[in-house]
Amino acid sequence: MQKGTQTKTFEQHMEAMAGMSSKEMEAKTAELKKLCICTKCPTYVNTGEKKLLFCATGKSSIIKKEKGCVCPGCPVQKNMALRWDYYCLKGSGKELAGM
Ligand code: SF4
Ligand code: SF4
Repeated sequence: MQKGTQTKTFEQHMEAMAGMSSKEMEAKTAELKKLCICTKCPTYVNTGEKKLLFCATGKSSIIKKEKGCVCPGCPVQKNMALRWDYYCLKGSGKELAGM
């Protein structure tokens, strides 16, 4: 199988991941978490939030105010063909895709 995933849509990535075992899913999540750049985001800084990867896990219970979002420049966004922003406030990619 071809390794390039650039042409897959977000929805196709999610469908592919749906076939993963929980162990594979855990490994994938850990890998993506390392790439998450939320800690560099003005909306995140100084809120006391410790969680990451809101594009996968959904809204933050702590972050309430938009101060800019660096998601569009994040490797996870590119990797998973995500196309939204402010996941900490709006919800996960799946939620935003209506999946
Ligand atoms: S897209 Fe945003 S929420 Fe998702 S990993 Fe990147 S910085 Fe974090
Ligand atoms: S999801 Fe976007 S707005 Fe929220 S903390 Fe991460 S980079 Fe900032």
